[in-house]
Amino acid sequence: MIQIKNLTKRYQQSLIIDDTSFNFPSKGLICLLGASGSGKSTLLNMIAGFDSHYSGDITVWGTSISKLNADELCAYRRDHIGFIFQNYHLLSGYTVLENILLACELNTSSEEENKKNAIELLNKLGLSSKTDEKTENLSGGQKQRTAIARALISNPRIVLADEPTGALDRSNSNEIMELLKEISKERLVIVITHDQKICTFADDVIHLDNGKMITKENDTQTDFTGNHHQLSFNKANKVSAFKRGLKNFNVHLTRYMAVSLAISIGILAFMLSLSSGNIMEKSISDFKDKNTAFSNGYIKGKDDGTVFELLSSDERIENVYYQYKISNVTLRLGDKTEAIAEKYPMPKATENMSYGVMPKAGKKEIALSPSLAKKFGNDISNLLGKELTLNHGEQEHILTISGIYNAGYDDFFVSSDIEQELYENVDSKDRYSISYDVTDFEDIVSVSQMLADKKIDSKTSANEVGALQSTFNNLSRLFLIVSILILAIGLFISTVMLIKLQNSRYKELGLLSALGFNKGTIGKMIVSENLLLAAMSAIFNAILVSCTYVIGRILHLAIIITPVQIILSILSTGIVVIVISLIASYKLIRTEPAVALRK
Ligand code: ADP
Ligand code: MG
Repeated sequence: MIQIKNLTKRYQQSLIIDDTSFNFPSKGLICLLGASGSGKSTLLNMIAGFDSHYSGDITVWGTSISKLNADELCAYRRDHIGFIFQNYHLLSGYTVLENILLACELNTSSEEENKKNAIELLNKLGLSSKTDEKTENLSGGQKQRTAIARALISNPRIVLADEPTGALDRSNSNEIMELLKEISKERLVIVITHDQKICTFADDVIHLDNGKMITKENDTQTDFTGNHHQLSFNKANKVSAFKRGLKNFNVHLTRYMAVSLAISIGILAFMLSLSSGNIMEKSISDFKDKNTAFSNGYIKGKDDGTVFELLSSDERIENVYYQYKISNVTLRLGDKTEAIAEKYPMPKATENMSYGVMPKAGKKEIALSPSLAKKFGNDISNLLGKELTLNHGEQEHILTISGIYNAGYDDFFVSSDIEQELYENVDSKDRYSISYDVTDFEDIVSVSQMLADKKIDSKTSANEVGALQSTFNNLSRLFLIVSILILAIGLFISTVMLIKLQNSRYKELGLLSALGFNKGTIGKMIVSENLLLAAMSAIFNAILVSCTYVIGRILHLAIIITPVQIILSILSTGIVVIVISLIASYKLIRTEPAVALRK
């Protein structure tokens, strides 16, 4: 039934099989005996269609398998070959029954029928009590019997066993060989061994020696060639690669979870560091809100127009105006009136606030010194928000008290536009000082520096703003470095874990290929697993982000995460996982099944 004609196989320079020919019968137990390294496994791989790189010909029922393409070879294994390995090649994490059913996933029979057959077979092999046991809990003999059940479930015409007793003790070996002998009554069983004692079970023994196949019983050579069976393939059942991937994912769940967690924590840390930028911005804007005066500058002294010109022509500066001494101002709140004979402009930026904030431009507001405030009420903090009427000459302004600041004498500040209105009817046209604002409050530092360079003495809070800036910059740099480290560690750990996981799976893929799963299906299965991993990581990341958000809220931490950042964090987790898992499984998917089996 299997005809080998002038078969020659080389690995690079070394000749493994040397122009040998042999006819296998269609039934019986054939032992292939040979020293270690003599090429037994190589020969078996060629018969199984794992390896097509040879010269000569292998025909099975008159069809040359040397000419079949990879998918046809898969179909050939699926429909006609049963495999048994020295190390069983059972999938751990799967039950005995699941391992067996794996081999009939590709056939067209119904699931119930396959299950019924599998249970029947397990009864026959004395494994009925182990049906739902995970295979890692079985003894060596039980494992090999499970593997035999898996090889037989599709009722193949050919069973190939590569040192099936190599890992077993003598009594278990004999038991397994008796089983193989039994099944060889209806099919061809080729058993590879280097153990002479095994050969007592054989109908025929082939010696593989110096690349040649030699047998003593030459009569078996022609006995079965008149068999009229033909090599044909059944229609394959469409297996869902996704379902397979899902099952695998489940089996390796703990490791996949660890990988997901490592990556999502890394990315979360990175996102939080980016969001620390938000915290800084929020703090700065809070700071600006409270200290409207911090964008203000004040230059005392008469000016011939040069300083005014300098300030006006600077792009960073706005609201430049001269300030004057005003006199005879009255303030009224309820039934209390307070007259101020003379009021000089003062630097706004260097005052500290006791309550509230300095008046904002565009708003009709006033801030009072404590001694002045006391004149309108004992509890000065209560004055905030109250309305006060200011009279200056013909002018009357209704102003809201925005804050109390720490001056030691009677004084007040009003919103800059109100202030400029007050200067419209001053008696003396003596310029007392200049007030200006910077558009972007952080520019106060560079503007002050520029003025200092020109020997112009400007009263600003550049020092405070500068200190704030450098604190923020240092903090955010530190945050970024720590987060990049966490991200790198997370990525490193998860990549190593993934690569280790994928490396442990070569045999699994070799096995699937031996069972007739083609490369396309195996590839899709791995990709499905990777997608599931990416989805899980993204979900973990989403959960972590939400927890961080909630905890931040509860503990009143200044964590600010924008919706865009949340979406970016989740998306980038998914993408990063897909990329590293594809890198980790790239080699796995591309490895030839025969090579995978050897790993
Ligand atoms: P056996 O199964 O009889 O112990 P093998 O068929 O596994 O021997 O190997 C036969 C020889 O071919 C060995 O020397 C082995 O090192 C070599 N060999 C097997 N596979 C490869 C390969 N993929 N590349 C190069 N040499 C190989
Ligand atoms: Mg071998």
